[in-house]
Amino acid sequence: MLRREVEEAELVVYGRACPNCGGFISDRRLALGVPCSSCLRELPKSLDYRSVYRVLKEEGTLKGFKEYYVFRETYSDLVKFFVECLGSEPWSIQKMWLRRIAKEGSFAMIAPTGVGKTTFGFVVALYLARKGKKSYIVVPTTTLAMQAEKKLNELAGRANLIVSPVVIHSKLRKREREAREEQLESGSFDILVTTSNYLLRNAERILKHRFKFIFVDDVDAVLKGSKAINYLLRLTGFSERDIEAGMEIIRLRREAAYLSSLQARSEKLEKRLQEIRERLEKLRNRIERKGRERRILIIASATGNPRG
Ligand SMILES: [Zn+2]
Repeated sequence: MLRREVEEAELVVYGRACPNCGGFISDRRLALGVPCSSCLRELPKSLDYRSVYRVLKEEGTLKGFKEYYVFRETYSDLVKFFVECLGSEPWSIQKMWLRRIAKEGSFAMIAPTGVGKTTFGFVVALYLARKGKKSYIVVPTTTLAMQAEKKLNELAGRANLIVSPVVIHSKLRKREREAREEQLESGSFDILVTTSNYLLRNAERILKHRFKFIFVDDVDAVLKGSKAINYLLRLTGFSERDIEAGMEIIRLRREAAYLSSLQARSEKLEKRLQEIRERLEKLRNRIERKGRERRILIIASATGNPRG
């Protein structure tokens, strides 16, 4: 197998690099984006990822390439939906964000006003609503919550999508507010939009639902104080114990950095550093071992400086 890769290679063979089995692969195949010769004996006529996927499946050698295939399919599906909603192709920065969504990654969306961060968040929420998954959108003000409601309905209309967003803000009449809170309580909604104030005052009501996607619009305004951060982390599936572990990691890292910067070294200091390293290892394992269900958190900011 290795020999065959060497024969095919122009210059080098890479180890642990086949996109399907993770084994040896020639630079030539790697550049074409196709798996190694053990996975895919003959190169198919079309090197399109769909053809490659089909052949691997037929030959019974499909492994890691499946994940890549699902990512590519999800991405092209997302782009198609984006065009349905907005009537135009996504810009390159929006394409980058869509790729991250397709990988189910969480990220901070830092871009100046006018790049369409908010609209982007809405489109993703609608896309997931179509798949029967819940989203939560947090905005800093009542005005923005009202605008969100209008925009969500407008976008859904363009994509011929029937969704039921529940939007809660301080300007609702009493009866309307009660009706919407009942919907929130029973979980009969796809998209929830509230102000950050509402989240702070009604956290338990919101935290009991499972959201696939959490979008924080204008994080600089929303995240005033660690309480809001705490709730957002819990929404993303971290338990209070995980968050405590996370806080301890931050404290220990700071202490270790301080101790390492000291000129005078002593046995006592080295011992403490060793203690910190062991504790950090334990805490990291605790968080990673849980294998949480994947959820997506996007925080949008115009400045990239989330401090309020
Ligand atoms: Zn392979």
